Amino acid sequence: MFCKNCGGVENIAHLLYECNDSSFVWQKLSSIFGFKIAWKHIVIGFYENSDTNDSMNTLISFVALKIYKYKMKCRLDNISSTNDSLYNSVKMSLNTYQYIVENSYENIQTHKLFKKAYKIM
Ligand SMILES: [Zn+2]
Repeated sequence: MFCKNCGGVENIAHLLYECNDSSFVWQKLSSIFGFKIAWKHIVIGFYENSDTNDSMNTLISFVALKIYKYKMKCRLDNISSTNDSLYNSVKMSLNTYQYIVENSYENIQTHKLFKKAYKIM
């Protein structure tokens, strides 16, 4: 199967990370947090036990889930995902997620991380 956005071979890495629109979102988040978010971070996350790593893993998982859901919605609606439309969709979901996180996660670092990501995006 080929990607409807760029014509590249579509696999899960392409869908969530490599395609232009997904890559654009990860680049923005990478610049906010000051390190390059790599595919391995999405797949296995940071595995040393710390509040910071737990928080980053939670944020990355939320963003990856949102990218997947947005792209599946585009597919069902037969529309293209663009850098801007995917980015705005992730940004809007981060607004919602930050409230969910505040009310359901005890880790204060996670609250701060979601707030920062939403504010700066
Ligand atoms: Zn693509």
